[in-house]
Amino acid sequence: MQPLLSVENLTVNFHTYAGIVQAVRDVSFTLAKGEILGIVGESGCGKSVTASALLGLIPAPPGEIAAGRILFAGEDIAGMDEKALCKLRGNAVSMIFQDPMTSLNPVLTIGNQLKECFTTHQKLSGEEAAGRSADMLRLVGIPAPEVRLGQYPHQLSGGMRQRVMIAMALAMNPRILIADEPTTALDVTIQAQIIDLMKKLNGELGTAIILISHDLGVVAGLCERVLVMYAGQIVEAAPVAALFARPRHPYTLGLLDSVPRLDAVRSRLTSIDGHPPDLLAPPDGCAFAPRCRFAMKVCEEAPSLFPVGQDHFSRCWLAHPDCPRTLPIRAAKE
Ligand code: SF4
Ligand code: MG
Repeated sequence: MQPLLSVENLTVNFHTYAGIVQAVRDVSFTLAKGEILGIVGESGCGKSVTASALLGLIPAPPGEIAAGRILFAGEDIAGMDEKALCKLRGNAVSMIFQDPMTSLNPVLTIGNQLKECFTTHQKLSGEEAAGRSADMLRLVGIPAPEVRLGQYPHQLSGGMRQRVMIAMALAMNPRILIADEPTTALDVTIQAQIIDLMKKLNGELGTAIILISHDLGVVAGLCERVLVMYAGQIVEAAPVAALFARPRHPYTLGLLDSVPRLDAVRSRLTSIDGHPPDLLAPPDGCAFAPRCRFAMKVCEEAPSLFPVGQDHFSRCWLAHPDCPRTLPIRAAKE
């Protein structure tokens, strides 16, 4: 079956005064109808740039899709003109962002903003649009929608505003909802409610979701499959259960160590020492090597992303069958 979305060898560069920043490097993945996919990694790893590329939102210049294709239902979005892209963003793919306060218009009521989605994109009359707006608020679990429609964004709590954003995104009846750090600005209880809401909407409406987060815990709560990104590349891709049960990349291990667990004896969470490499000049070998406690001589050669199990891929020599079993360089030095 043809995937809903297929990203093939996507490479995105930004031309800066200092040189070319290689923000996304040779990224490939697919998204099936109704699937929930997570993209996880530290800030600057290329996850948001990947999402922007999916919507044709890479600002050019300075940005540029240097290579690769993005196929939506078989059609390459790189070849679309602005009009076709607008239609794509309006109807097929919607996006919600981290901070709903900056995405909602502070001087318009919630009702006016929601109604606009229906009058502009779905050509409904004012009255029909008002009715649909109230329905949408009800769908995302906002009580007394008629009252809320007359209020301004600042009169709502952070969690309510994020629900409104989701309602607006879903008003277009998209086939894919891209959520970029949708819960980061919210406290944990509200975070859990928003995740539950997305799960429910995925079940009821069949909307495929791409959830972008720096938090593997959030991703685990919602996604079926996860891509772990580091320094512009996918370093591990796996079904969520396999990723947690048997991570096959040291970077994923590091991310897992920073997720709080109820069953853990250890009370301290560890973070990964060091910084991601400068994407102006990505290293020739494994990009994670400077931070990796397992780094070996062979890691000076860049590993490819290869299969390590059922639907499970890793970009680490340790998991590779041809890996020469040498001591980690750091251990050898000590
Ligand atoms: Fe570490 Fe080498 Fe694997 Fe890179 S390839 S993550 S340096 S062990
Ligand atoms: Mg981001």
